[in-house]
Formats: sequence, structure tokens, C-alpha cells
Amino acid sequence: MTAHGVLSVGLTGGIGAGKSTVTRMLEARGAVVIDADLLAREVLAPGTPGLDEVFATFGEAVRAGDGSLDRAALARVVFGDEDARQRLNAIVHPRVRSAAAEREATLGPGAVVVHDIPLLVENDLAADHHLVIVVGAPQRVRLERLGARGMPAEDARARMAAQADDTERRRVADVWIDNGGAQDETERQVAELWVHRIDTYAHNLQMAALAERPVGATPVPDPGGPRSWAAQAAVLGERIRRAGGPHILTVEHIGSTAVPALEAKDVLDLQVGVADLATAHALAGRLTDAGFPPVPGEWSDRPEAGADDEASAWTKLLHANADPGRHVNAHVRVADGPGWRYALLFRDWLRAVPSEREEYARLKRSLAARTATTGAYAEAKEPWFDRAWPRMQAWAQATGWHPPTR
Ligand code: ADP
Repeated sequence: MTAHGVLSVGLTGGIGAGKSTVTRMLEARGAVVIDADLLAREVLAPGTPGLDEVFATFGEAVRAGDGSLDRAALARVVFGDEDARQRLNAIVHPRVRSAAAEREATLGPGAVVVHDIPLLVENDLAADHHLVIVVGAPQRVRLERLGARGMPAEDARARMAAQADDTERRRVADVWIDNGGAQDETERQVAELWVHRIDTYAHNLQMAALAERPVGATPVPDPGGPRSWAAQAAVLGERIRRAGGPHILTVEHIGSTAVPALEAKDVLDLQVGVADLATAHALAGRLTDAGFPPVPGEWSDRPEAGADDEASAWTKLLHANADPGRHVNAHVRVADGPGWRYALLFRDWLRAVPSEREEYARLKRSLAARTATTGAYAEAKEPWFDRAWPRMQAWAQATGWHPPTR
């Protein structure tokens, strides 16, 4: 994914929203900028293997008189032709990726790289980065600004229509920068982001350190909409999956945030399924580089009632967030093992049975009021889990429950 210890930020937004403007502000604070559009030009420059492949694929019609690429002709060929667009992307994207990776590799740990990627959402690249920043401004404002820059409103509208919209962008936005106002308003948001999130995240990544997690177990409601817990978990899960590659068999959103209508602490739980514990250990470095360093120790979450299994079968590795702005627990468990199955059964049972969900919510609220630390809170929940275990099993039997297939 990225060079070791380098924080990779993906920045996007609709045309005219202010990507270049925000990118420059981040650069002024010390970020190294990698411009995806510029790289895409470089990998198709005269004499490159990329350009040869474009000619071989799309023919003489896209060759200019001087032997370089006729970009306007190429744009006409791929416009509205999904198949052609994908063939072009298959030539360009891997080359842009490796050119970007080459640049990152020249940077030392602790660096912050900002990738300015207009089509980050359209090309499904959010999960390639540690943090995604979306720059937004109302369409009316964007049209005005583009007009002032000399782009006719008709052209601007046509481009906007061909791009993703802001709801789709919001889904992947770890950070939303509102550039609808004056530039100093935007600068204020960038300063806040840099000081309170990016700088700390980059430092944690460099040190393989976990972000501080403020204690307290007061539940909050699901934010819903495009930034619902489920939507956030989907992007984080994909980040983990890409970092782990074939070592990872399953990634699932589990825990209270995975149960709609259940309030929870704002900590997302993800379950990463691997073939065995040795693989879990082998994966640790990759998860660390992806922004999820290990929480030291081997963990077991065996409920009393599951005592018929080997204790070691309940062992997991736990990773958590380097990003101070998004708290995550990534439980790395043996796929199909008892701990892995338990987490999924518990989730699905709470999703399916409203009365159990409500009882669990009541328990959480009363414990949150009584226990001061997260550790004490978790311990106090144990007896309830022991009592719930037979009910969960009975439900699984009655409904023929089985874990989601890989
Ligand atoms: P993008 O890179 O997303 O297409 P730009 O950063 O180039 O957008 O911004 C589009 C235009 O609007 C530019 O001419 C820029 O100078 C101007 N602009 C950007 N942000 C603001 C702002 N907050 N107030 C006024 N003009 C702005």
C-alpha cells in the first residue's frame, strides 16, 4: 500500500470544489504532494511503454502528428464507452500507482503524502489511503468559481454530471473540508485538521503507536446517512483487506456498532479472519503500516459457557487505530474458530431479536453509569454474556443460523 511509516492521504472533491487550494495549504504545512493527473500524463509521455500500449490498444486514431498522444482523440474514444474506459484504466492505473509508490519510497518515515486524486471515488481508491479528505462546496459556488477561471457553465455542468456526487464522496470522507466560504475559513479547518489529526497520525504511524483513547463508555447513536457506522466500517474493512492481501480470509463489521438501532461507544469493531494464529502474527506488520498497530499481548475472549472448547482456540490478536480521529478495534481471529463464530452469532442474534437488543442496551447504559474505566466496564459485562450464551445458541438452532460464507 504505502512506504513504511509514511502517512498516505487521498484528497478528492468535485471539479471546482477547491482540491488544488486545499492541497497547497497542506503542502505549506509540510505535506509532500503527489498529483495523480500529472503522473497519469507522465506514464503516457512520448517513448514510454505506457504510450506504446495505448497505441497498440486504441490504434493510430489516438496518435498525434508528432507521435505523441492525441489526448482529445483518446477522450472521444473512451467517452461513454465503459469497456474502452476500463481498458485505458488498466493501462494507466497500475503505472500511476507504481510511480506514486516510487516517490513515496524516497521519503522517510513520518512523512505525510497528499495524493490529489480527482476521481478517487469513481476509481474506488479510498481504501488505498490512510485518510481520505474530501473538499466540498455548493454546486452554485463551484460554477461561479470555475466561471471566474474561464470555464463556461455548460462545460462545468457536463463535467460535474460525469463525476460522482457529494453523497458518494461523503461515504468515504474521513474528513470533510467545507470550502464553500472564504479561504481563511478553509485555512482554519486545515490548521485544525493538521494539528489535531494528521500530525499525530503521522507520528503514531512512524512509531507504530496507538492513538490515545479517551476512557468512558457512554453510548452514542449511529451517525447514520453516508457516514453511518456501517459505511465507515466498510471502508476501514477494505483498507485492512487491501493491506493484508491473501493472508486475510474474511473481514466483518462486528460488535455493537454493527447492530442497527443499538447505541454504542463510537469505536468500530472489525473482525479479521485468518487461517491460523501464525498468519495473524505474520500479518501484524502490514496492519501496522496500514494504520492499525497491535495492542500488545495475546487476547482471549472465551465466554465461560464456551468452556468445552480449547482455551487456545479463543485466542486472538488485537489491533487498534493510529488515527486519533477514528477509534477502531481490529480483532484478528482464526476464521471458523469459536471466537470468530461467536462474534458473528452475537451480532446476528442482536440484529434479529429486538427484545434481546433492548435488554443489552439497558445493560450497557446501566454499566456505563456505574463503571469508570473501559476495562472495568468490559469485565462487568461478562456475567451477562454467560447467561446470554444458551439463548444465543437456542436461537441459532431454531433459525438454522450459520456464519456468513466467505
Ligand atoms: P479544484 O482543484 O477542486 O478543481 P481549485 O482549488 O482549482 O478547485 O479551485 C477552483 C477555483 O476557485 C480556483 O480558481 C480557486 O482559486 C478558486 N477558489 C478555491 N477556493 C476558494 C475560496 N474559498 N474562495 C474563493 N475562491 C476559491
